[in-house]
Amino acid sequence: MNDTIAAIATPLSPSAIGILRLSGPGAVAVVNQVFTPFHGVSMAERPDRVLVYGALRDRDGAVIDHCLCTVSRAPGSYTGEDTAELQCHGSPAALTLGLEALFAAGARQAKPGEFTRRAFLNGKLDLTRTEAVADLIHAETPAAVRQAAGQLGGALARVADGIYDRLTDLCAHFHAVLDYPDEDIEPFEAGELSAALDSAAEELDALAATYQRGRLLNEGVPCAIVGRPNAGKSTLFNALLGYERAIVTPIPGTTRDTVEERAGFGGVLLRLIDTAGLRESEDAVERLGVERSRAALERAELILAVVDGTERPLAKETVELLRTVERAGKPWIFVATKKDLTKNSGSIGVIASGGRPAAPSVEVSALTGEGLDQLERAVAALFPQNTDSQAGALLTNARQAEAANRARSAINRGAEALRVGLPPDAVVADVEEAMSALGELTGRTVSEDVTTRIFQRFCVGK
Ligand code: GDP
Repeated sequence: MNDTIAAIATPLSPSAIGILRLSGPGAVAVVNQVFTPFHGVSMAERPDRVLVYGALRDRDGAVIDHCLCTVSRAPGSYTGEDTAELQCHGSPAALTLGLEALFAAGARQAKPGEFTRRAFLNGKLDLTRTEAVADLIHAETPAAVRQAAGQLGGALARVADGIYDRLTDLCAHFHAVLDYPDEDIEPFEAGELSAALDSAAEELDALAATYQRGRLLNEGVPCAIVGRPNAGKSTLFNALLGYERAIVTPIPGTTRDTVEERAGFGGVLLRLIDTAGLRESEDAVERLGVERSRAALERAELILAVVDGTERPLAKETVELLRTVERAGKPWIFVATKKDLTKNSGSIGVIASGGRPAAPSVEVSALTGEGLDQLERAVAALFPQNTDSQAGALLTNARQAEAANRARSAINRGAEALRVGLPPDAVVADVEEAMSALGELTGRTVSEDVTTRIFQRFCVGK
C-alpha cells in the first residue's frame, strides 16, 4: 500500500456537497498541489482534522471550486494512512475535474471498497466492522440501520472476541503446562476444560441463533401474498409498495432477487414475492394458482393469506387455502380485504379460523388504506425489533454464520471427545479449531494470539 488512492466518495449527481477523498503516503502532498487555502499556510503545515477554506484547481491550475479541505494523518485516520478530504459543491463536472487533478498530482483511482480494505489491513477495523460499513450504507429500515451502527461500534466483534478470549486462556494454559514443564504453573484440569467448553457451547449456540433474525433484518423477510383470484392480492401488493416508500430505495447491482419487490412495513423490510395472481392473467392464475402458491409458501417466512372480506359464506376453496397456509407452519396473517364494502362485518377472521387458534387477523381496504396500520402492527408484532443491548450483536450474513457454526461444531466435537475420555490434547485441537473459526469471523489470526497470551498471562520467560 505504497500508493495513494483517490475517489469521488459521493454519488455523481448535482447535489449540495460532493466529496473527494484520498488515502496513502502521498495524500497530503497530492492535495497540497490541487488545493490552495485562502488564508495562511498550506495543508502540509496544517494540523489534523481542521477544516480549511480555499480554492480547488484543475490539472491546468484553473480554479474550479471554493471548498473545504481537511487532512488526517497516519495512524489516527479511518484507513490508518495519511488521508485528505475535499468537501466541494456537488457538481459532477467539477468533481471529475478535481479527481483528474488529483491523478495528475500522483494519486490513482481507488478500487471499490479500497479505503475500508486499507482500514482493515491496517488493523483499524475488524472484519465485522468492515461488513457493518457496507450494511449501514445498504440498510433499508431503521432497525437495519441500528444493527449496522451497533456492529460498526464493535458489538458483534465483542461477542466473538469474548468467546475467543476465554478459549485462548484455555489453550494458553494447556500449552504452558505442556511446553514449559519446569515453570511453576498449575496443572491442567479436565474439569476446567469441561466447564469452559460447556459455557463456550452455550455462548456459541446463542450467537448462532441470532442469524435467523439478523438475516431477515438485513435481507428482508420473504413474504408471500396468497389468496384466490380476485381476493385483492394485487391491490394489497401495490398498497404495501406505496407504504413507507420513501425509506426503501432501489439498490442496483445487489444480489437481491429482482422478481421481488421490497417494502418497509411495520419497521420490517418485506420482500414481497411475486406470486400467482400478482402479475398473471386470471386464466394463468386458475391454471397455475395452487402450484405457484405452494412454491411461494415454501420460500416465504411470512404469509399474508388474503381473503375477499365480502365472501359469505366462505367458499370451500378459501377454507382449503387457509388450511394449506396453516400447514406451511410459517408465521402468517389472515387479511380480509375490501373492508370498505363490508362495514361492521367484524368477525370474519374468527369465522375463517373455524374456531382454531387463529393467526393474527386484520381487515383492510387496500383501496382506501383503511386497516393498513393494523396490518403494519401485526407484521411488527411477528418480527420484534432488537432491544438496544442487542443492536449490532446479531450475525447478519452467511460468512459470519458459517464461521460461528463451524466454531460451534468444533466445540461440540471437543465436548464429546472429553465425554468419551479422549486426552486433553485431542480436545484442545478442537478448541483451537473453534478459535480459528472465530478468528475468521473477526478476521484476526490465531497462533500469534495464543503465543502472546502465554507470555503475558503466565509470565513464562521471566
Ligand atoms: P387478485 O386477483 O387477488 O390480485 O385481486 P385484485 O387485487 O386484482 O382485485 C380484484 C378486484 O377487487 C379488483 O377489481 C379490485 O379493484 C378490487 N379490490 C381489491 N381490493 C379492494 C378493496 O380493498 N376495496 C374494494 N372496494 N375493492 C377492492
